[in-house]
Amino acid sequence: GGRNAGLGSWPERRAAISPGRTALVFGDRSFSYAELYERISRLASQLRAAGVTSGDRVAYLGPNHPAFVETMFATYVVGGVFVPLNFRLTAPEIDYQLQNSGARVLIYGPECSATVSESTQVASLLRSVSLTAYEQWLVLGEAQVAAASVSLDSPACILYTSGTTGRPKGAVLTHGNVIWNCYNLLVGVDVAGDEVTLISAPLFHVAALNQCLLPTFLKGGSSVIMPSWGTDECFDMIARHRVTWMFGVTTMYAGLAQSPLWDSADLSSVRNLIVGGASIPPELIRTYLSRGLTFCQGYGMTETAPGATFLEAPESADHVGSAGVPVFFADVRCVRPDLTPTEPGEPGEIQVRGPNVTPGYWANPVATDQSFAGDGWFRTGDIAVVDDGGHYRIVDRLKDMFVSGGENVYPAEVESAIFEHPAVAEAAVIGVPDEKWGEVGRAFVVLVPSQSLTAEELRTFLAGRLGRYKIPKYVDVVGDLPRTGSNKVRKAPLREIPLPG
Ligand code: ATP
Ligand code: MG
Repeated sequence: GGRNAGLGSWPERRAAISPGRTALVFGDRSFSYAELYERISRLASQLRAAGVTSGDRVAYLGPNHPAFVETMFATYVVGGVFVPLNFRLTAPEIDYQLQNSGARVLIYGPECSATVSESTQVASLLRSVSLTAYEQWLVLGEAQVAAASVSLDSPACILYTSGTTGRPKGAVLTHGNVIWNCYNLLVGVDVAGDEVTLISAPLFHVAALNQCLLPTFLKGGSSVIMPSWGTDECFDMIARHRVTWMFGVTTMYAGLAQSPLWDSADLSSVRNLIVGGASIPPELIRTYLSRGLTFCQGYGMTETAPGATFLEAPESADHVGSAGVPVFFADVRCVRPDLTPTEPGEPGEIQVRGPNVTPGYWANPVATDQSFAGDGWFRTGDIAVVDDGGHYRIVDRLKDMFVSGGENVYPAEVESAIFEHPAVAEAAVIGVPDEKWGEVGRAFVVLVPSQSLTAEELRTFLAGRLGRYKIPKYVDVVGDLPRTGSNKVRKAPLREIPLPG
């Protein structure tokens, strides 16, 4: 009994409530909710015809495109499990994820055809469909398909983590996890039925998918999909479509603020800008706030679907640098290694428990085991401090902290201080071995075009801002930083670069 509440029922419900409203915009194409429901139905019936049944995994590989959204919902309609893949990965990396997830069908963009032809796993799938053949395939399906009834505890998708600290792990998110995350987001952000959401980050990543696209869909707003990130394109989309909100990571917002178009860009339609996914220099937040823009920080991860803490707009100006308080429907705690609670101001590990938290990693019981601290508490591996008012400030990852002369150094803090230098566009700091201090900092810095900066100038600049032991002993000016598909700095490759001399 009861109504089918699974994600697969959403397109039909939305088409009944708001058939004529625009669901998706992509380039010069747009799809109403009625059209989208019809296309999703056709695709779902084709997936069924190909042999996909309840619980089967369907993978998507490609840059942002409406077919991503259609594949996801069609998979949910047939009761399957959606597996979005990072299109920047190599064929062996994709093969691991296809194999680990046990995907049966792959739909992919033509940009990825080289990866697909190098793959050793694709041959064993029931079916792989390139977007070049997708339309002809889709039109043959049935125009109205009812969604399979699912339990909210059954897996909806397997999302691979960004791979910032190691090999990506396949976090299972249930229908319930995804839906509770939507509620958490909607409590924190006033997403409206006339919302125009800019999908500027890659859809295979949890933030664009679950924090932006799905809450917008639930409310019947429009999602404007960018095929790939570009600052000029972003300004253009915002002005052209009268975008009301978007999510971005630090590098994206830093790029916008450093662009020559920043001063003249028309941002008058924007109601909310959400930032998260990596540490955010307070300086950057102030740049946006001083322009009168609502700039809210959220903290989360793939495993929490993703929202864990959020700073609501009315609080943001008074708590610059804070990631806010626990989302409405989740418990969050900050603990010492022995799981006792930290005092206000004392760094500890953040742990999360609630209806948005993954039941574990797909086919990876060891990783699942290591990630839970008992009683359903998920270990985030992140360090935070909580103030008297219960606000969380994310300090850094446990794995990135290093110890110099007996003092803990959190690279994210050093990076934020470096970022305040006007010549700096990006910065990453790691700990390297040192005879005298045990470990010392090494900074990799990308400069704003046509600016210059020497190691000595940077250290002098930092001397007024940071304790001595935090100031990097080594400074390397580099052309770019190694990044994950979700635009986070990967520190492992930096650790392999030999020290000068
Ligand atoms: P992997 O788990 O494979 O190493 P990842 O942790 O980067 O990759 P995601 O799930 O995309 O994969 O990212 C979640 C992580 O991003 C968090 O655990 C945290 O380290 C970081 N993060 C997210 N939001 C913030 C924030 N507001 N401030 C600082 N760090 C953040
Ligand atoms: Mg992680």
